[in-house]
Amino acid sequence: MVDSLTCAVCGGSVPLDEDHHYVTDEKKRMHDRDEQDEFVLHDRCARATFEGWWSP
Ligand SMILES: [Zn+2]
Repeated sequence: MVDSLTCAVCGGSVPLDEDHHYVTDEKKRMHDRDEQDEFVLHDRCARATFEGWWSP
């Protein structure tokens, strides 16, 4: 059985043996410790979401 996570874009499962992307959302808090959320995206979902951010 292959570990999988939930894609933050389409909500589908992301098998960790396929191409995928991690996105880290770091919150800066004034009074609490910083909090880091990590999202996993399918390669195709990441491309669709961040199209234009990346150079070809
Ligand atoms: Zn996806």
